[in-house]
Amino acid sequence: MAERISEALQKKLSGRLGFYEDLGIRLFYRSRIAVAAQHGERQMEPPAIAHFSTIDRQKEETLPKPSGKPALQKFAPVATSPVSPKFASLPVVSGPSLFEAVDKIAGDTLLKVREDLGECTRCKLHSTRHKIVFGDGNPKAELVFVGEGPGADEDAQGLPFVGRAGKLLTQMIEAMGLQRKDVYICNVVKCRPPENRQPEEDEVSTCSPFLLRQIDTIAPKVIVCLGAVAAKTLLQTNRGISQFRGEWLEFRGRKLLATYHPAYLLRNPPAKSEVWKDLQKVMAVLGLEVKKGKSA
Ligand code: URA
Repeated sequence: MAERISEALQKKLSGRLGFYEDLGIRLFYRSRIAVAAQHGERQMEPPAIAHFSTIDRQKEETLPKPSGKPALQKFAPVATSPVSPKFASLPVVSGPSLFEAVDKIAGDTLLKVREDLGECTRCKLHSTRHKIVFGDGNPKAELVFVGEGPGADEDAQGLPFVGRAGKLLTQMIEAMGLQRKDVYICNVVKCRPPENRQPEEDEVSTCSPFLLRQIDTIAPKVIVCLGAVAAKTLLQTNRGISQFRGEWLEFRGRKLLATYHPAYLLRNPPAKSEVWKDLQKVMAVLGLEVKKGKSA
């Protein structure tokens, strides 16, 4: 007989399951061996994986929490296909993570991700934002740009990279021979951090599963991280961006390259030539013609 659980615990579990469902995690498993052992039963069958609609009470304690210090900060890139030796890999923070749990969801679409995000109140950024900035562009783009988080203009319009840094990004995209509608642009956090401060750990870990689903759904050939926050979030590294900027890396079986954020280029224009070199590498992979003598 199944052990009865208290109403309070039931409520807690249902809240937690709702949070996971929002992230697209819908199935939980527990080993029949563990359950049998817990109830002093002998395991007669092979340890088949059972679908459970609830979580083991003991395991519950170790599950990542929706706020505070979720396990996402520890996620390591998950290789969905063998890692090509061509790509360097960075030292990553080890340990289980929510990102590892978020496997590619069959039949997922950007619309579903947006619906799951809803009028999000999962982290404190919701209280100061005006508009959620989900992302914009071609849902089948070969190239995805990932920024840090919306600024004032983006917060007002609900669109990514539409302010000064956005105009520079648009120029960079056009210099590559593309238009904004050809690529997909999104951010690590979907709500503006007050005063344009960097998003905090709990905000990043709460929001980034949605980014992961966006990337999985679009399935781009190349991901370009704009700035350290995007690069550190996806690669789970503490190394400074200058140590791996412009190198081909691997993220869930896709090519990832980190470059400087356009806002940094506005403050430091000489770095534009470095970024242009990085974008030319991206163009080569995408089969885009690099015009001779063109400089950004
Ligand atoms: N900076 C970002 O990182 N993202 C935006 O959308 C705008 C500015």
